[in-house]
Amino acid sequence: MENYHHILVAVDYSEHCRFVAEKARRLASLYQAKLSLVHILDNIPMPQAQYGTVIPLHQKSDNEPLESEKSKLLRLGKELGISAENCWLVWGLPTREITSFAGQINVDLIVVGSHGRHGIALLLGSTANGVLHHAQCDVLSVRLKDGLN
Ligand code: AMP
Repeated sequence: MENYHHILVAVDYSEHCRFVAEKARRLASLYQAKLSLVHILDNIPMPQAQYGTVIPLHQKSDNEPLESEKSKLLRLGKELGISAENCWLVWGLPTREITSFAGQINVDLIVVGSHGRHGIALLLGSTANGVLHHAQCDVLSVRLKDGLN
């Protein structure tokens, strides 16, 4: 099997996100792969931006919630040992933008968390399911168990 060269971990800042990111970090170290970190911004209105817009992390704006999102991502990146140039903030819908951005930066493995939903919640779908269906590369879905990770 070929080694992975570029791993992308998608983080949502949930209580489990560090567990998912740490797993990606260890894999990257095992494969000596580049590790990139992405958060898809879907909770702040961005009237000027189109889906898929990459938000520059070092260009200051007067949008306070946006500045706080940038700091949050850079802080997490720093804690994980991921340099700012490999941290990405993209505006849009998580499933769609994680997979499309992974293609743009030539990723060969995407790492996401998965809550293992059942019943109606499963039918409605999850980000992990969506990424699994749409990704053009391998996907590692890290099973999350409430309160245990
Ligand atoms: P969910 O389907 O919302 O439970 O999310 C499962 C996983 O999808 C998370 O653990 C993240 O890896 C990823 N994810 C969800 N929302 C986002 C987001 N806004 N940005 C980046 N990754 C996300």
